Formats: sequence, structure tokens, C-alpha cells
Amino acid sequence: MRVKIDKTKCTGCLICEVTCSLVHSGQVQREASAIRVKLGHLDYERHQPVVCRQCKKMSCLKSEGMETNADLRQAFFWSNAHQRQVDCAFGALFAHGDQLVHCNLCGGDPECVKSCPTGALGLAA
Ligand code: SF4
Ligand code: SF4
Repeated sequence: MRVKIDKTKCTGCLICEVTCSLVHSGQVQREASAIRVKLGHLDYERHQPVVCRQCKKMSCLKSEGMETNADLRQAFFWSNAHQRQVDCAFGALFAHGDQLVHCNLCGGDPECVKSCPTGALGLAA
């Protein structure tokens, strides 16, 4: 499962970011969200939510002893932020202080998808 994005429906309200940070850190703090919305200049570009695509290799995260994809998918906070960001092909890992935040799908019940008021976020297999 992964979070699927339809940027044509995104209004840039940032409710998804607020929800993710609240669920995982108890604070409203954009830097603590594993989904980030690149706000576009609407004269010539759309807003673009970005989140981990749950790719099969997850090679960006495989350097800290956790080798099974099930383990990798469950962790939200990670160390060694810079190198992992470089290694993610999709630019979907985000720094939060000296840590990294990674979408863990809220353990199987993605809160950002439920909170998005426009249907810009959905689920894909
Ligand atoms: S909650 Fe939905 S509409 Fe709002 S910024 Fe996030 S993806 Fe876009
Ligand atoms: S599914 Fe959960 S962890 Fe992933 S971006 Fe959405 S709220 Fe954050």
C-alpha cells in the first residue's frame, strides 16, 4: 500500500502536513510531517504533495541493521538524515532537525488520506 497523489485536486491547505505531524510528534510542525506540499505559483504550476512511494527496494533506509522491508516501513524517525535524503530517488524523505521523517503509513491506516478535504490523497496497492 502507498499514498497516491492527485495534484490536480490539491488546494495547498496543508491539512495533511498538520495531521501527520500531530499524529507522530503531538505538535503542529511542518518539519515533523512525512508528507510535504511544495506550494506552487498558481499562475503556472500546481501544488505538489510529496510522500514516500513505498518502493520495493527502500535502499535509502537499508543501512542501519533493519533489513526486512516490513521493519523499514514501520519506522517513522531515522538518523543519518542527509545521506538517506540523497539516496531517495523520489526526494520523499525529509529532515527534521538531525533526524529524518519517513512515511510509515500510520501503521496501516493513513491519517493524512482521511484528513485531506479534497480527495487529493488516496490509497494505491
Ligand atoms: S490536505 Fe489534501 S488538499 Fe490539502 S495540501 Fe494536503 S493534499 Fe493538498
Ligand atoms: S500515511 Fe501517516 S505517516 Fe504517511 S504521510 Fe500520511 S499521516 Fe504521515
